[in-house]
Amino acid sequence: MLQVLNPATEEPVATVPAATPADVDAAVTRAAAAQRGWAAAAPADRARLLRRFAAVVDDHAEELARLEVLEAGHTIGNARWEAGNVRDLLDFAAGGVERLNGRQIPVAGGLDITLLEPLGVVGVIAPWNFPMPIAAWATAPALAAGNAVILKPAETTPLTALRLAALALEAGLPEDLFQVLPGTGPVAGNALVEHPGIAKIVFTGSTRVGKSIMAKCADQVKRVTLELGGKSPNIVFADADIEAAAAAAPMSFLDNSGQDCCARTRILVQRSAYDRFMELLTPAIEEIVVGDPADERTQMGPLISRAHLDRVRSYVTDDLPGIRGKAPEGSGFWFPPTVLTDVPEDAPCAVEEIFGPVAVVLPFDDEADAIRLANATEYGLSGSIWTRDVGRALRASRAVKAGNLSVNSHSSVRYWTPFGGYQQSGLGRELGPDALTAFTETKNVFISTEA
Ligand code: NAD
Repeated sequence: MLQVLNPATEEPVATVPAATPADVDAAVTRAAAAQRGWAAAAPADRARLLRRFAAVVDDHAEELARLEVLEAGHTIGNARWEAGNVRDLLDFAAGGVERLNGRQIPVAGGLDITLLEPLGVVGVIAPWNFPMPIAAWATAPALAAGNAVILKPAETTPLTALRLAALALEAGLPEDLFQVLPGTGPVAGNALVEHPGIAKIVFTGSTRVGKSIMAKCADQVKRVTLELGGKSPNIVFADADIEAAAAAAPMSFLDNSGQDCCARTRILVQRSAYDRFMELLTPAIEEIVVGDPADERTQMGPLISRAHLDRVRSYVTDDLPGIRGKAPEGSGFWFPPTVLTDVPEDAPCAVEEIFGPVAVVLPFDDEADAIRLANATEYGLSGSIWTRDVGRALRASRAVKAGNLSVNSHSSVRYWTPFGGYQQSGLGRELGPDALTAFTETKNVFISTEA
């Protein structure tokens, strides 16, 4: 049994049965049967059903958002956005069903065409930090491309995923086409990875587990997309609008209590602007409203679990200099907004993913020094560049090794633009114009006209 706790109060919310390898096996058999019918259905019908699924999600957006607040401690504002994001992902994917075009390639003596065929049954293994959107990033395009999906949500956050599966049925999606199997990673997750009936694994989670999944997929040359950790830079050049950069910096790493793979947790500030930047950043951090996530005014909620709170704490000892914001005391997994200063650039807190509301500020001398520091981690997911010099913005965008950069802003994830990591932040891309293609095999067919 999986015990779901409210991270803001530590009160039990629900218990959910944990899937066994036998459950996974049975689910794969059912999914394979459903997939054959789905792939054979008219594209217009598949698109219509996915649009209907989007509409049903929209009808239940407030309910889904409240559930996300309860099981994940997300602020209600964020949770509403997340439910809306699932709706939009489904709508966007539905628009792709009838645009999943192959090619016609010039050849002598015949006709050459490519077919984009569904893979079959896709296994999606999701983390707890954005349970709904991340599940839908893979599920929506995989279904749209003609696949069945088995989703294993994280142990701590199975409830919204289970609700989405029920809403899919309510919308009229064929039974067994989209199944949700809560369970533990090493049992249910591993059973999906090892099952020969699963054609592809889309894994979002830690780099450590991602590496082990990639190694296991190699055994069957199983397709795999990995969305892993990050330690992303927020580079502030002295020629930037320092007021704007300082105002935007707090929520760029505090949103979702820092439990965000794209969190800008390495704030790199050009030395000549350092004092001014810190003067502005300090009150902004101290004023962040941390508390009841269901309260509309709250900017930051709790961490997901006691174990995760202990992990975050292990990086932030009392002797480290920096800025500390406020957080509630008593029950709930609370940690205050924290910015560490004067730490060595290779300190664990400066290079390892903490996945909590903790950033470091490191000064740099010039553009080359900024790029060197920005690239001094094993990750490469996101990053931001603040400057008024368009040439510098473009040079830095080319030089920073990361899959998702933003200039004079911190935006990085839109369902219609590609998303994914460089280096140990991941493999493959999700979202964007090619989202469906990642769930297809390309088959080349030559038809002779000579016979
Ligand atoms: P995690 O790796 O512990 O778990 C992720 C999922 O994998 C869970 O569903 C878990 O049950 C499952 N799992 C664990 N062990 C497994 C195994 N041996 N076999 C199969 N499945 C297994 O990660 P987490 O703590 O839930 O999530 C936080 C991590 O996710 C952070 O590192 C964060 O950066 C990363 N993340 C990345 C992205 C991205 O898009 N790049 C997005 C969100 C989160």
